[in-house]
Amino acid sequence: MSEILLDKFLDVFNRDILPLTYKGVDLGNKIFGAAIMKKEDYSLVVADTNNEIENPLWHGEMHTLKKFYEINKEMRPDEKNCIFLSSHEPCSLCLSAITFSGFDNFYYLFPYESTSDEFNIPHDLNIYRIHLIKLKKRTLIYQINISHQKKKILYL
Ligand SMILES: [Zn+2]
Repeated sequence: MSEILLDKFLDVFNRDILPLTYKGVDLGNKIFGAAIMKKEDYSLVVADTNNEIENPLWHGEMHTLKKFYEINKEMRPDEKNCIFLSSHEPCSLCLSAITFSGFDNFYYLFPYESTSDEFNIPHDLNIYRIHLIKLKKRTLIYQINISHQKKKILYL
């Protein structure tokens, strides 16, 4: 990452995301925010913040995507020509939304561990732990099924 891009990220974070986040937190929302910038000149397209008091799906990234798609299609830059900046490592919902929307990148300032340890919001790590356990169980079930099929084959 270039030094210019890093400076631009910090500018957008301090100038655009943080003031919105302060207001949102005062209303009872969480701390997460995001911005979409043009790749060509790093100019801001849209920034927004968590708005879970209105809708539990309006995570900072989701709400920023909502605002992005409210821009008239003729005026809105193509997703592939944009940078997605998130204050925190996106959760599984936001990660999917960013990807399915067509963005080919995303950057964040705070990883899951910081979100959990410094901001006392452990949900991301908890979700991954739960899914990892389920994935292991599904793998185990799958292996059992394979064994069962082999038994069937043996008895034919
Ligand atoms: Zn999220």
